[in-house]
Amino acid sequence: MFTKTLEICEVGNPILRATAEPIANIKNNEIQVLIDRLIKTLKQSKGVGIAAPQVGRSQRLLVIASHPNTRYPYAPTMAPLALINPQIVSHSQNTEKDWEGCLSVPGIRGLVPRYTCVEVTYSDRHGETKTTEFTGFVARIFQHEYDHLEGKIFLDRVESTLDLVSEAEYLKLIKNSNLE
Ligand code: ZN
Repeated sequence: MFTKTLEICEVGNPILRATAEPIANIKNNEIQVLIDRLIKTLKQSKGVGIAAPQVGRSQRLLVIASHPNTRYPYAPTMAPLALINPQIVSHSQNTEKDWEGCLSVPGIRGLVPRYTCVEVTYSDRHGETKTTEFTGFVARIFQHEYDHLEGKIFLDRVESTLDLVSEAEYLKLIKNSNLE
């Protein structure tokens, strides 16, 4: 079946600032189609995570799909995982600052502090309740996408505007740090 990709809402669009609504009927075809479209949109953009508000749907659904990349060459490769109505049960005391970008904030990267470990409950796409722990890069992706459900973007999380760089400057930084 042909799955459509979806247009990404960018910073300035009020939907990115709204608190997303819980999803009641996970098995509804509309939700299942949305999950497939989010996964396809994420793959096409080569991203590692996406949340429903980013495609104009203010609903509590996100997809994470870690894979190795320039900044995180040892990131785990995982099949796209849809989390519906996710909640953070507990988190580490420790935070770590590292680079993030966002499909909704093109051309900008920022150093963002995140918990190194989060325990999460959610419903999977079949409506089953799951509890899991995410660490490191995957914990970072989860917290970034979860923020989208709360109307927050990573720009709100940087400690200083000095921690913001353009994509081009970011690529130079990464290149230099990989030479060290
Ligand atoms: Zn984002």
